[in-house]
Amino acid sequence: MKVLVINCGSSSLKYQLLDMDGEKLLAVGLVDRIGIDRSMLTHEKVGNEFKYKLGVPMKDHKEAIGHVLATLVDAEQGVIKDMSEIGAVGHRVVHAGEKYSASVVIDDDVIKALEECTELAPLHNPPNLLGINACKELMPTTPMVGVFDTAFHQTMHPDAFMYALPYAYYEKYGVRRYGFHGTSHKYVANIAADMLGKPIEQTKIITCHLGNGGSVTAINGGKSIDTSMGFTPLEGLIMGTRAGDIDSAIVGFVQGKEGLKTKEMMDILNKKSGLLGISGISSDNRDIREAAEQGQPRAQLALKMFSRKVKFYIGAYMAMLNGADAIVFTAGIGENDVNMRREICANLYHLGIKLDDESNDTRGDATVISAPDSKVKLFLIPTNEELMIARDTIELVDAKK
Ligand code: AMP
Repeated sequence: MKVLVINCGSSSLKYQLLDMDGEKLLAVGLVDRIGIDRSMLTHEKVGNEFKYKLGVPMKDHKEAIGHVLATLVDAEQGVIKDMSEIGAVGHRVVHAGEKYSASVVIDDDVIKALEECTELAPLHNPPNLLGINACKELMPTTPMVGVFDTAFHQTMHPDAFMYALPYAYYEKYGVRRYGFHGTSHKYVANIAADMLGKPIEQTKIITCHLGNGGSVTAINGGKSIDTSMGFTPLEGLIMGTRAGDIDSAIVGFVQGKEGLKTKEMMDILNKKSGLLGISGISSDNRDIREAAEQGQPRAQLALKMFSRKVKFYIGAYMAMLNGADAIVFTAGIGENDVNMRREICANLYHLGIKLDDESNDTRGDATVISAPDSKVKLFLIPTNEELMIARDTIELVDAKK
């Protein structure tokens, strides 16, 4: 079966078409600037050297998905003859609240439940729903599956997911830790268990998803027991533009000093903080590395703060798990930044963590990067959220047959 995986942002849409007989990627693409001027579809037929670009106005997600489908069946750029070859669509959905602890086949009840969650993820869930509704209109008979970033973390216990606020805020408004990047944490943890040569039920793993957004998760026996992102993806690590953990009293203090409205303050915490806020240069780790190498002190500080925070969570989760079998590094920074991995793992010998500098000097494939005598294995494992979404999609669609 061929599965189309869709990941909708507010003005963008990423897609992949996979042939699940052999888990082969057929095509991958991106639509940018949906609903604004100069909309652009960039499509890559796997095996083709050149990227195909289509610049036509796309006023909404339905038009964008219409162009994606037309490109997939196009005589030259396409990879399938007919839309009926797409057996199912898997949608990445950010927030499912406490409603779903696993992926589900999307029906009207699921759409309603996700609409109810939009208050919890106002930036993410509305575009996810736009994508679902657009596919429902354009491919009404094709089954769809929702795969949720929050689902994997629904195994956390209340002592991990509650905030020490008046209990009524949890009951009335659902204020609690939800956690995100669940699809990625689950995917790499499963590969890590394979690399350890143990059933996942017998493993203790810490997964570090370090991309533009980042989170660390403690996984015991394949189940998330704690994670650094919280009620929203703002909590935890220092990220590209997000502040991560701060003293919440700072929010009211700065708002008062600067005369900021709540929305303006949230924008600062989400979009102007993190690596960008500290370095004043960029939210992109590569730019900051370059500036740090040229001696820019705030770039150097930003990188030090980043690695320190990851180390902090590794230490905390080693304690929560009572030791770990493996620590995994994944996503843009985790997979590619050799120096960042070295800085994070430095001076952790007392926890049984010892990086091998030579093996660490690598990018790309899943690799063991710990020294042979490291008690805790260190792994670099490229994440593949789309494949995980496609796997869940096919499993649920097949089960319904
Ligand atoms: P992601 O959100 O997973 O796409 O990760 C994006 C982050 O990964 C950005 O901060 C990039 O600068 C960083 N990144 C990607 N490639 C590299 C690289 N080769 N070296 C260092 N950082 C990288």
